[in-house]
Amino acid sequence: MDPKLINEILARSMSNDHVHIINKLSEPKRDEEIATELNMKETTVRTLLNDLHGEGLVDYKRTKNKKTGWYTYTWKKRGEKIGSYVIDHLSLELQKLNDKLDREENGTILACSCSRIPLSEAMEMDFLCPECNEPFQMQDNSKDMESIRKEIDSINDILQKKGN
Ligand SMILES: [Zn+2]
Repeated sequence: MDPKLINEILARSMSNDHVHIINKLSEPKRDEEIATELNMKETTVRTLLNDLHGEGLVDYKRTKNKKTGWYTYTWKKRGEKIGSYVIDHLSLELQKLNDKLDREENGTILACSCSRIPLSEAMEMDFLCPECNEPFQMQDNSKDMESIRKEIDSINDILQKKGN
């Protein structure tokens, strides 16, 4: 998969800072080295690394300094896990989009200026939005469906090309 695309998806599912950390790990590094290179606080870097470790995207080796008794952590990225994480994330996004499309296709959607809700919820609120005090009105949702379909298509495209 295109590395740019992987970064984009990781940034969407985690954050840009997580992506910066991963991109610093083309070779194994200690957390303080990463902090220096990215000009970030070591505590911040450790938090980000722990997040990445929680997702199984990085791994570390712990070594003890015999003189000081302190531990040193050397981190490396798990390239193969990153690929499958991205695919899993896209599959989940796809599932959510398909559900959303289902709701748009099958249910009547009403809208005020601040939100879009299904008919049943609008009825419970007597067709008046408690947030903006506007009445909920029927909405043509063909544009929304079109944009959801486009997103679905683009994710399907990526998932189909993943083998290349
Ligand atoms: Zn409203």
